[in-house]
Amino acid sequence: MVGRLPVGMARSSWHSICTVSEDEVIQTVRRHFESLFPKVCPNCGRRFDTLRDYILVTRRIGLTKSYDAELGEWKTTQPIGSVAMANCPCGSTLALTTEGMMLSKRLALLEWVRVETGRRGTSPTEILEHLRDKVREQVLEESNE
Ligand SMILES: [Zn+2]
Repeated sequence: MVGRLPVGMARSSWHSICTVSEDEVIQTVRRHFESLFPKVCPNCGRRFDTLRDYILVTRRIGLTKSYDAELGEWKTTQPIGSVAMANCPCGSTLALTTEGMMLSKRLALLEWVRVETGRRGTSPTEILEHLRDKVREQVLEESNE
Protein backbone atom coordinates (compact mmCIF):
# COMPACT_ATOMS: atom_id res chain seq x y z
CA MET A 1 0.00 0.00 0.00
CA VAL A 2 2.76 2.40 0.87
CA GLY A 3 3.58 4.85 -1.88
CA ARG A 4 0.87 3.62 -4.23
CA LEU A 5 -1.23 6.35 -5.74
CA PRO A 6 -4.60 5.89 -7.41
CA VAL A 7 -4.17 5.92 -11.19
CA GLY A 8 -5.98 9.23 -11.49
CA MET A 9 -3.51 10.97 -9.22
CA ALA A 10 -0.37 9.59 -10.75
CA ARG A 11 -0.78 11.74 -13.82
CA SER A 12 -1.09 15.08 -12.03
CA SER A 13 1.66 14.28 -9.56
CA TRP A 14 4.02 13.64 -12.44
CA HIS A 15 4.14 17.36 -13.16
CA SER A 16 5.11 18.22 -9.62
CA ILE A 17 8.00 15.77 -9.83
CA CYS A 18 9.37 17.54 -12.90
CA THR A 19 9.71 20.87 -11.11
CA VAL A 20 10.33 21.65 -7.47
CA SER A 21 7.30 22.50 -5.39
CA GLU A 22 6.67 25.84 -3.74
CA ASP A 23 7.15 24.25 -0.32
CA GLU A 24 10.56 22.93 -1.31
CA VAL A 25 11.57 26.34 -2.60
CA ILE A 26 10.41 28.00 0.62
CA GLN A 27 12.39 25.48 2.69
CA THR A 28 15.54 25.97 0.62
CA VAL A 29 15.40 29.75 0.79
CA ARG A 30 14.55 29.74 4.46
CA ARG A 31 17.39 27.37 5.38
CA HIS A 32 19.85 29.44 3.40
CA PHE A 33 18.73 32.70 5.00
CA GLU A 34 18.81 31.15 8.46
CA SER A 35 22.38 30.05 7.83
CA LEU A 36 23.40 33.71 7.34
CA PHE A 37 22.86 34.44 11.04
CA PRO A 38 24.11 35.77 13.37
CA LYS A 39 24.55 38.92 11.31
CA VAL A 40 25.86 42.30 12.45
CA CYS A 41 24.87 45.70 11.09
CA PRO A 42 28.11 47.18 9.74
CA ASN A 43 26.92 50.67 10.60
CA CYS A 44 25.70 50.50 14.22
CA GLY A 45 27.02 47.09 15.26
CA ARG A 46 23.60 45.77 16.18
CA ARG A 47 23.59 41.98 16.23
CA PHE A 48 20.78 39.88 14.83
CA ASP A 49 21.05 36.40 16.32
CA THR A 50 18.49 34.71 14.13
CA LEU A 51 16.43 35.27 11.02
CA ARG A 52 13.41 35.75 13.30
CA ASP A 53 15.26 38.45 15.19
CA TYR A 54 16.09 40.16 11.92
CA ILE A 55 12.52 39.98 10.61
CA LEU A 56 11.15 41.43 13.84
CA VAL A 57 13.66 44.25 14.20
CA THR A 58 14.31 45.44 10.66
CA ARG A 59 11.86 47.17 8.37
CA ARG A 60 11.33 45.59 5.00
CA ILE A 61 12.10 47.94 2.12
CA GLY A 62 12.16 47.72 -1.63
CA LEU A 63 11.07 44.72 -3.62
CA THR A 64 12.78 41.38 -3.72
CA LYS A 65 14.46 40.91 -7.03
CA SER A 66 16.35 38.38 -9.05
CA TYR A 67 19.05 40.00 -11.15
CA ASP A 68 19.02 37.05 -13.49
CA ALA A 69 15.26 37.21 -14.01
CA GLU A 70 15.43 40.96 -14.62
CA LEU A 71 18.07 40.42 -17.26
CA GLY A 72 16.02 37.63 -18.79
CA GLU A 73 18.93 35.27 -18.13
CA TRP A 74 16.74 32.28 -17.36
CA LYS A 75 19.18 29.75 -18.73
CA THR A 76 22.32 31.05 -17.07
CA THR A 77 24.62 28.57 -15.35
CA GLN A 78 26.22 31.33 -13.29
CA PRO A 79 23.34 33.19 -11.71
CA ILE A 80 24.01 36.56 -10.07
CA GLY A 81 21.28 35.83 -7.55
CA SER A 82 18.44 37.47 -5.72
CA VAL A 83 18.38 40.17 -3.09
CA ALA A 84 15.92 41.24 -0.37
CA MET A 85 16.55 44.48 1.49
CA ALA A 86 15.56 45.81 4.91
CA ASN A 87 16.41 48.78 7.08
CA CYS A 88 18.17 48.42 10.42
CA PRO A 89 16.68 50.67 13.16
CA CYS A 90 19.81 52.84 12.70
CA GLY A 91 18.63 53.59 9.16
CA SER A 92 21.25 51.68 7.27
CA THR A 93 20.18 49.23 4.59
CA LEU A 94 20.89 45.55 5.03
CA ALA A 95 20.51 42.90 2.36
CA LEU A 96 19.96 39.19 2.36
CA THR A 97 21.08 37.53 -0.83
CA THR A 98 21.27 34.07 -2.32
CA GLU A 99 25.04 34.37 -2.50
CA GLY A 100 26.65 31.30 -0.99
CA MET A 101 23.66 29.10 -1.72
CA MET A 102 24.56 25.90 -3.56
CA LEU A 103 24.62 26.52 -7.31
CA SER A 104 22.18 23.69 -8.05
CA LYS A 105 19.72 25.21 -5.58
CA ARG A 106 20.11 28.67 -7.05
CA LEU A 107 19.44 27.30 -10.51
CA ALA A 108 16.42 25.36 -9.24
CA LEU A 109 15.12 28.55 -7.61
CA LEU A 110 15.56 30.53 -10.82
CA GLU A 111 13.81 27.82 -12.83
CA TRP A 112 10.96 27.77 -10.32
CA VAL A 113 10.59 31.54 -10.62
CA ARG A 114 10.54 31.24 -14.41
CA VAL A 115 7.85 28.55 -14.38
CA GLU A 116 5.71 30.36 -11.80
CA THR A 117 6.02 33.69 -13.59
CA GLY A 118 4.59 32.09 -16.71
CA ARG A 119 1.98 30.05 -14.89
CA ARG A 120 0.62 32.91 -12.78
CA GLY A 121 1.17 35.56 -15.40
CA THR A 122 2.99 37.89 -13.00
CA SER A 123 6.44 39.39 -12.73
CA PRO A 124 9.43 37.61 -11.17
CA THR A 125 9.43 40.24 -8.41
CA GLU A 126 5.85 39.41 -7.48
CA ILE A 127 6.76 35.74 -7.25
CA LEU A 128 9.78 36.53 -5.09
CA GLU A 129 7.77 38.86 -2.85
CA HIS A 130 5.27 36.05 -2.38
CA LEU A 131 8.14 33.73 -1.47
CA ARG A 132 9.47 36.28 1.00
CA ASP A 133 6.02 36.62 2.60
CA LYS A 134 5.83 32.86 3.02
CA VAL A 135 9.27 32.56 4.57
CA ARG A 136 8.51 35.39 7.02
CA GLU A 137 5.16 33.84 7.88
CA GLN A 138 6.74 30.46 8.63
CA VAL A 139 9.61 31.86 10.66
CA LEU A 140 7.31 34.03 12.78
CA GLU A 141 4.68 31.32 13.23
CA GLU A 142 7.04 28.63 14.37
CA SER A 143 8.71 30.51 17.14
CA ASN A 144 5.47 31.58 18.80
CA GLU A 145 5.75 28.94 21.50
ZN1 LIG B 1 22.32 49.38 12.19
